[in-house]
Amino acid sequence: MNIKFWPFVILTAAFCACMYSKPYTPEFPEAPEKEPTDTVPPVVPVEYDGLVEQLMKASVGKGLDIVLMGDGFPVELHADGTYRSVMEQACNHIFSIEPAASLKDRFNVYYVGVVSQNSNLDGTSGIFCKKTSPTYKSEKAIDTYAKNVTSLEHADSTVFCVIINSKESGGICYHQSYNTQKAYAYCPRIKPSTPTGQDYRFALVHEVIGHGFAKMSDEYVMSGYESTTPSSKERKQLTEHQRLGYDRNITFSKDTASCPWKEFLTDERYVSEKIGFYEGVGYYGKGAYRSTKTNLMNVTWGKEMAFSAPDRKIIYDRIIVRSENRKPDYEEFVEFDINHN
Ligand SMILES: [Zn+2]
Repeated sequence: MNIKFWPFVILTAAFCACMYSKPYTPEFPEAPEKEPTDTVPPVVPVEYDGLVEQLMKASVGKGLDIVLMGDGFPVELHADGTYRSVMEQACNHIFSIEPAASLKDRFNVYYVGVVSQNSNLDGTSGIFCKKTSPTYKSEKAIDTYAKNVTSLEHADSTVFCVIINSKESGGICYHQSYNTQKAYAYCPRIKPSTPTGQDYRFALVHEVIGHGFAKMSDEYVMSGYESTTPSSKERKQLTEHQRLGYDRNITFSKDTASCPWKEFLTDERYVSEKIGFYEGVGYYGKGAYRSTKTNLMNVTWGKEMAFSAPDRKIIYDRIIVRSENRKPDYEEFVEFDINHN
């Protein structure tokens, strides 16, 4: 995180903004908007708004919870089945890439019906999103709709994901603090950048599994930060965040002994992935490193994308820790990984 964002981070949230082809300007938080006073909201049919359906039920453990919602879907898109189809597709996308694909029996996935007044996505209806991002009202709206999921035992450890009914590029994920598993991810239904591109699917996995669930950092350099380096204060903060389970996919040092992915550096079984130190992550163009040149935390467009092996281990470890309450060792991960890739 660049120092520009620290006051916000310390007070409220860990922040990730993901944009794919142009610089991203965070729109959150923003100035309160005036409540409309001269319009009467249309009556929303109760059979759609707040409707809950479980799309996936864990068969191992109590289940790690993911709750999906949509914004910009007016009532006719609920009535004709579009909303449900979008939620089903999102669920399938989220679990389409390893290691979550082979461990989806550890997850509960629900969706909640959210009827928007229209599909304008001007920040005034449903989850109060705009075309690519939330507004200051969005998290409260999500928490309110989440109360419809009566079987949700631990909302504070749930990953919420809002599918924004827009074709624009974007995607963003917030964590309220470094002491919670809870996350709020937002992802538009991105129009592919190439005829065979799967930008939406990759962005959804990046946001929900990469950031929301596994608490990983972006592995690309934010535009405008190509020359920035982490300060000594930020180095100490990264160590603390990693102790709390965040940002374990980056390092501010090329020290092979302390590197989070040190086992992979000398493991010949992973030589084809060319694991090492590749400079440039998040808000640091210099002096900060990721483990592979290209991976799903680095790029979310193209035909086929995957998490790097060190990132797969971060995801695998978190799933096992939270679903079985034990910490797997390195060789357990490698055996799983080789059998599922
Ligand atoms: Zn990201």
